[in-house]
Amino acid sequence: MKIGVYICECGINIASMVDVEKVMEFAKELPNVVVSRWYKFMCSDPGQDLIRQDIDELGLDRVIVAACSPRMHEPTFRELVEKCGVNPYCFEMVNIREQNSWVHTDKVQATKKAMTLIAGSVSRAALLEPLVRSRVGVTHEAMVIGGGVAGIQAALDIANNGYKVYLVEKSPTIGGRMAQLDKTFPTLDCSACILTPKMSNVGRNPNIELLTNTEVVKVDGYVGNFKITIRKNATCVIPDKCNACGDCADICPVIVPNEFDVGLSPRKAIYIAFPQAVPNKYLIDQNACIKCGLCVKSCEAEAIDLNLETVEETLEVGTIVMASGYDVFQAEIIEPYGFGKYDNVINGLQMERLFSSFGPTLGKVVKISNPHEAPEKVAFIHCVGSRNLQEGAKEYCSRVCCMYLIKQALLYKEKHPEAEVYLFYMDIRAFGKGFEEFYNRVQLHSGVTFVRGRVAEIYEKEDKTLTIRAEDTFLRRPVELDFDMVVLGVGLVAKEDLTELARLFNLSRSPDGFLLEAHPKLRPNDTFTDGVFLAGCVQGPKDIPDTVAQASGSAAKACEILSKDELLIEPITSIVNEDKCRGCGMCVEVCPYTAIELKVVNKFGHLVTVASVNEALCKGCGSCNAACLSGAIEQRHFKDNQILAIIETFTKGVVK
Ligand SMILES: Cc1cc2nc3c(=O)[nH]c(=O)nc-3n(C[C@H](O)[C@H](O)[C@H](O)COP(=O)(O)OP(=O)(O)OC[C@H]3O[C@@H](n4cnc5c(N)ncnc54)[C@H](O)[C@@H]3O)c2cc1C
Repeated sequence: MKIGVYICECGINIASMVDVEKVMEFAKELPNVVVSRWYKFMCSDPGQDLIRQDIDELGLDRVIVAACSPRMHEPTFRELVEKCGVNPYCFEMVNIREQNSWVHTDKVQATKKAMTLIAGSVSRAALLEPLVRSRVGVTHEAMVIGGGVAGIQAALDIANNGYKVYLVEKSPTIGGRMAQLDKTFPTLDCSACILTPKMSNVGRNPNIELLTNTEVVKVDGYVGNFKITIRKNATCVIPDKCNACGDCADICPVIVPNEFDVGLSPRKAIYIAFPQAVPNKYLIDQNACIKCGLCVKSCEAEAIDLNLETVEETLEVGTIVMASGYDVFQAEIIEPYGFGKYDNVINGLQMERLFSSFGPTLGKVVKISNPHEAPEKVAFIHCVGSRNLQEGAKEYCSRVCCMYLIKQALLYKEKHPEAEVYLFYMDIRAFGKGFEEFYNRVQLHSGVTFVRGRVAEIYEKEDKTLTIRAEDTFLRRPVELDFDMVVLGVGLVAKEDLTELARLFNLSRSPDGFLLEAHPKLRPNDTFTDGVFLAGCVQGPKDIPDTVAQASGSAAKACEILSKDELLIEPITSIVNEDKCRGCGMCVEVCPYTAIELKVVNKFGHLVTVASVNEALCKGCGSCNAACLSGAIEQRHFKDNQILAIIETFTKGVVK
């Protein structure tokens, strides 16, 4: 056994708190260690050259690097030693930065701790076993879940790379929230004009199979080989026959609120979500339909069949992009603002629909209480539900509300120069490209009045005038002003059904409720489930440019998988000793990756139940290992003897 120990200074990150030379001298004396060195940046090319040279010249078969967290550079060093002929699982990384130099203030003690940690790893390194990665084939098709701008972009990118994509959209059309917007900040280009060409491209792309009114109900398999069961909800309209003439909707007697217009207009039980919907086919809202059959009689194309049923189907794909977007904050929760109680208190999304030329008022912003009158005084309130520690509200900043409210205030002022337009804000967050310039333009040149202060309360007078009580924190005095309409800058929140989607795909969520990325800086598109990537607001609030950028990034990651014929599977998985296993199933219950199942085997002439690990699904988390009462499950690379060797070294007190 020949072990090499390498200690990194990490600039001053480690060297300022750990005496690396002393640690190096200490390591030289440890059992089986034939070389020990320190260097400024072990991960740099010259640092890696030191290791390469020693493997060649001294024939090292175990390598230990004491540096940063393994999350940072373990893959770098594993790749290095593998290229030099050492099994990558005979490499050990000791974290003396995050778990030592960054968290201690006493250099002597931190140096001793670094020595102890290295001594523990040297004892473990001697017991490490070479492991071999297994190979699995890849299904060269992808699935994108959610057909907002994120899902559209990801699907188009993957399809344009030559791979088949299933684009699964829960609602009747793709487009998502962006389809509901009028103009987009900061450039004020028309949302529909830039989105609809992309939507039609999806409809026309031969590599994209668009599955609207469809949900994922079951997920099996693993990276490269997912088996996804989808449920296609019955629309009772045969898409190939429907020519979107609209006769059915004209005759339909059922009227319900139109969700696309956020309740500001009615629609029929048989409907098309909006004029540019893709696919442009009618469908029946099963919850609203009274099955009177009038639509069936009116349809000359014979496209309506009320007996069509929901069907389930299982699709095989190699990789998945999650792009199921966001909801807007339920403003009713902030009771003093009177949303849902006062007609003329609306939210930002409703204002977008009022501005829209194909919205409920064909682009005229009118009072909800009186559709014949345009409001003369309009207030926009920032941070409704965001940056608020109140119960039910969200602590995080929703990132788009400052800009969309400034945009809406400007658009209203441009349409109605005589109107008085006020913005109530805490501070303006204009972090994106062109945002600060846009904000300055509106603040200095548009005639919109900016009041810095949080609104305490809104109340309605008898004539429907809305009075806002706030504090002007610049003038340090309370203000009370009357308005005809108040627009609430509601934040972005995780969708309610994300809980179920996260459960199906074994995805973690961050405290804000959105899906959690594998690393906030270095792996913002990845999840902890291999082969599943994130795009757009499903990961957290984002504007359109950031959404599109992340979607293209995730599409590229998906294509990386699709372009391979085989994938290597991590060998650090659990293994079951069938002789010891009692088949109690405890491991099956605790496994967060559904990687373990019980199977029947013939043991000494008897049929018995034992646990069996699917190595492609197992992430080596160790939960089963800890739960197993009979000690039948061990984890490769973290076997009991390997862990106990470290503990024994620590308890011996090797450092004087
Ligand atoms: C009022 C308002 C104004 C805005 N104005 C601007 C602006 O001017 N400029 C700008 O850059 N940004 C703006 N934004 C932000 C913009 O809306 C988002 O950046 C963008 O819509 C994010 O797209 P997405 O695809 O991630 O999510 P979404 O648009 O939410 O799309 C998600 C899609 O997934 C579908 N879906 C959900 N769950 C499932 C499921 N379980 N299975 C299948 N499909 C599912 C949904 O039906 C939807 O079609 C604004 C936001 C708001 C609220």
